[in-house]
Amino acid sequence: KKVADRYLKREILGEGTYGVVYKAIDTHTGQTVAIKKIRLGKQKEGVNFTALREIKLLKELKDPNIIELIDAFPHKGNLHLVFEFMDTDLEAVIRDRNIFLSPADTKSYLQMTLKGLAFCHKKWVLHRDMKPNNLLIGSHGQLKLADFGLARIFGSPDRRFTHQVFARWYRAPELLFGAKQYGSGVDVWAAACIFAELLLRRPFLQGSSDIDQLGKIFAAFGTPTPAQWPDMVYLPDYVEYQCVPAPPLRTLFPTASDDALDLLSKMFTYDPKARISVQQALEHRYFSSAPLPTDPEKLPRPA
Ligand code: ADP
Repeated sequence: KKVADRYLKREILGEGTYGVVYKAIDTHTGQTVAIKKIRLGKQKEGVNFTALREIKLLKELKDPNIIELIDAFPHKGNLHLVFEFMDTDLEAVIRDRNIFLSPADTKSYLQMTLKGLAFCHKKWVLHRDMKPNNLLIGSHGQLKLADFGLARIFGSPDRRFTHQVFARWYRAPELLFGAKQYGSGVDVWAAACIFAELLLRRPFLQGSSDIDQLGKIFAAFGTPTPAQWPDMVYLPDYVEYQCVPAPPLRTLFPTASDDALDLLSKMFTYDPKARISVQQALEHRYFSSAPLPTDPEKLPRPA
């Protein structure tokens, strides 16, 4: 069945945060695409227009490490977003027990993630929903950020369907303390969680509730002190926690290099104002010291 006289629908790829994702063929170009059908529900007409205007801006954002939004159109009360098709995602790579990730491979995946984020942040757009299954991998090993900018347009994802729970594991402490104003630091924290996950080959901080998530963070890095993070005490959901000391980071990441640990600790800084920026992270010596990042074409991928 053709959608908008142009796209030939194929199988369902999955159910995402905002709705169903289909594989499709663009009959104009022959290109394989992924179409994300977003339920707009019974909202006012105005929502459509606002969303479409915002989406037009996203279409202008092109970068090698960002999923290209090829087309967007309303159809039968749903908004359809057409993206370039990607073979797999970083979650599948991390989970695949047959894949060995060398330090150079990990460096390459992190570098591509940060490059995509740097582009977003340069355009003053936050991703806000960074997690390994939002980092898609193309046929040439290129990693690209997906769902970029959508969180702001469509509001916080519908928690009824989806693996929204997983997103909690990547949430920055300021968000868990209820911060209403936050910045690019939330994406840096999430990228740090993904870096840690690449090193450990399992999610690093697996909280079962928001409170438990904070507990997991404190157990890993110690309870933050007001000296470390002066603005913390003014956050809406801040409560005083019992002090837990931080174990040496080295004990949590026994296989990581000193450079990797140094960058990781700077990305996991409590105070978002003191946290390293994406641009600074890309300039960290971890990326210029040996081993150099693997060429994306040569990265291991699921069979
Ligand atoms: P979520 O909102 O949970 O991140 P998505 O809506 O992004 O999930 O995607 C749902 C499913 O569709 C996932 O299994 C994902 O792998 C797949 N998918 C999303 N975008 C693409 C794409 N551009 N190419 C191929 N598969 C995709």
